[in-house]
Amino acid sequence: MRLTRMFLPTLKESPATAEVVSHKLMLRAGMIRKVAAGIYSLLPLGVRVTRKVEGIVRDEMNRAGAQEVVMPVVVPSELWLESGRWDDYGKEMLRLKDRGDREFCMAPTHEEVITDMVRGEVRSYKQLPLNLYQIQTKFRDEIRPRFGLMRGREFVMKDAYSFHATEECAEREYREILKAYTNIFKRCGLEFRAVEAEAGPIGGSFSHEFMVLADTGEDAVVSCTSCDYAANVERAEIGASEVAAAVVDIPALEKVSTPGQKTIEEVSGFLKIEQASLIKTLIYKVQKQDKKEEFVAVLLCGDRELNVVKLVRLLGAGSMELAEDVDVERITGAPAGFVGPVGLKIPVYADWGVDGIRGGVTGANELNTHLLNVASGRDFTPSYADLRLAGAGDACPRCDGVFELRRGIEVGHIFKLGTKYSESMGATFLDENGREKPLIMCCYGIGIGRTAAAAIEQNHDDGGIIWPAPLAPFDCHIVAVNIKDEPTMKVADALYSELQEKGLEVLFDDRKVRAGFKFKDADLIGVPVRITISANTVVEGSVELKERRGGEARLVKIEDVAEEIQKIVGEG
Ligand code: ATP
Ligand code: MG
Repeated sequence: MRLTRMFLPTLKESPATAEVVSHKLMLRAGMIRKVAAGIYSLLPLGVRVTRKVEGIVRDEMNRAGAQEVVMPVVVPSELWLESGRWDDYGKEMLRLKDRGDREFCMAPTHEEVITDMVRGEVRSYKQLPLNLYQIQTKFRDEIRPRFGLMRGREFVMKDAYSFHATEECAEREYREILKAYTNIFKRCGLEFRAVEAEAGPIGGSFSHEFMVLADTGEDAVVSCTSCDYAANVERAEIGASEVAAAVVDIPALEKVSTPGQKTIEEVSGFLKIEQASLIKTLIYKVQKQDKKEEFVAVLLCGDRELNVVKLVRLLGAGSMELAEDVDVERITGAPAGFVGPVGLKIPVYADWGVDGIRGGVTGANELNTHLLNVASGRDFTPSYADLRLAGAGDACPRCDGVFELRRGIEVGHIFKLGTKYSESMGATFLDENGREKPLIMCCYGIGIGRTAAAAIEQNHDDGGIIWPAPLAPFDCHIVAVNIKDEPTMKVADALYSELQEKGLEVLFDDRKVRAGFKFKDADLIGVPVRITISANTVVEGSVELKERRGGEARLVKIEDVAEEIQKIVGEG
C-alpha cells in the first residue's frame, strides 16, 4: 500500500480522553475513531490488525474441528424468555422494538440462538459432538465503557459453543479448546496465562480465563514461577501451610496500653512491630444454608487480606458480612480495633499464616489494650485453613514453587456450561439406548479487538506501537527519504513490487514530507521492519534495515532485502 493512497490519519498528540496506552496509540496510529461512548469505527489500519487476529483464531478453531457459522445481531426476546435471561440479563442488554412492537435485543452473547439452532436439527447422539463458532459483533451496554476497544459497548467476539452427549466428551473438548486457545495467544506473540477462574453468572463448573499480562490489566493474577499453575487472585489456592514455629521460649502474655491505636498500621507504628507479626481479628456474621445465623472470628497475619470466597466455602455459608459494631462489642467486650482471639467464646478460624506467628500482638478484647507475646497453640486454638487472598511469594498448591503477582487483561474465557441452556430450552437428543437427554454444552469466547489492544499494552515504547509480527498490519515499511531523488525512487518502486510478489505486505511511505516526519509515523504505526532508502546508500547498492523492536539500523544489499525481512517476520 502506498501511503499517499492510504486513509491513515495519524495524530501527533494523544487525545486527552484516552487513559491507557493502547487506546492512545490506536487513536494516534489512525486505527480507530470514536462514534459514541464505547462505539468505534475501524479505519483501514485497524481492520488490517483485527483481520490478523481473526485469521489466527479462525485457523486454530478450524484445526480443532470447530465449524464457522454466523448468527444474527438482532435477536427476538422469545429465546431469552425461554432461557430466563430476558429478565436476568439486566441493563447490559440493549433492547429494542420493531414496527410491530415485537421485542428484540442486540445480542450480548449467543447461547440462546445457538441452542435454538441446534435443538432444531440434532436428534441423536450420532450427530454429536458438534462445535460451532462465529466471529461477530456483540453489543453490551457496559456501565463504564473505556479504554477504546478494550471495553467497548459494540465489539467483535469469537464465540464458540460445543454440544455433547456425555460429560467425558464435553470435558475432552474443553481441554482441546484450552489447547487451541493456548496456540492462538502464542501465535499472536503475547505473554499470557491460562488461569483458573471463578465461574460468573453464566454458570458452569469448569472455567478458565486467558490473561494477557500487562500493568494496565483490570484483573490481579498470581502465577507460579516454576509450573503452569495460575489463577485469579480471588480464586487462587495457596500451597501447604508454613511450618509452625516451636511454642517454646515465648514469654508470658502481657497487656499493653494502646490508646486510640486501632488499625494495623497504627498498632504496628505505635508498638514498633512489623505488620506481619500482628494477628488481625475479624468478626463475621454468617448466614448458614439453613438460614441460621452465627458469629465467627477470622484471624489473619496483619499484612494479609481475607479471601471471603474461601471462608464462605469453608463454612458452607449462604452469605456473610462483617459484624456490626454493636455485635462486635457484645461478643468480644471491646470495640473493633481491640479484638483478639484469646478467650473468645465463638468459633475461631485462622489462616495458616497465623500458625507461624509466635510472640505476636493482637487485641486484648478490652478498650485501648493489646496483648504482647501471643502464641497460637498456647493462648488460643483456632481451626486452620487456607483463608487469605493469594499474593506474591505465597506457595504454589501444585509444586514447590512460589507465586508472582501480575496484572492481566482477560482476552479469552472458556466455560463448561453443562445443561443450563439445553434444559431450560428443551434441547435434547436420544442416547444409545433411545433415552432422551439434555445436550451438554461448553462455550468459548475471545475478544478480537481486546486482543489487539492487549498486544499494544504489552508491546510499545515512547515512539509508538511495536507489533508482534503475526499481528502487524504490514510486514515492512519502506521509507523513501527524498522522493525527488530519482535513484531512490527507482529502488523504492522496484523493492515495493518485488517484496509484494514474494508475498510480503508492504507499506510504502512515498509522501512528499520530511524524512524525520516519516520516521516518526513509522515508529508510531509499529510495522516490524523499516527499510530506509536514501540517495547515499543506494549508490552503493544497499538500503538501511531497522527492526522496530530495538534493532540497530544496518545496511543490506538490495538483492538480499526480501530474504532478510522474511527471516525477521517469519514468512516465506
Ligand atoms: P469482562 O469481565 O471483561 O466484562 P466477560 O466475562 O463479560 O468479560 P465474556 O462474556 O466471557 O466476558 O466474553 C468473552 C470475551 O469477550 C472476553 O474474554 C473478552 O475478551 C471479550 N469482551 C467481553 N466484554 C467486552 C467488551 N465490553 N469489550 C471488548 N471485549 C469484550
Ligand atoms: Mg462483562
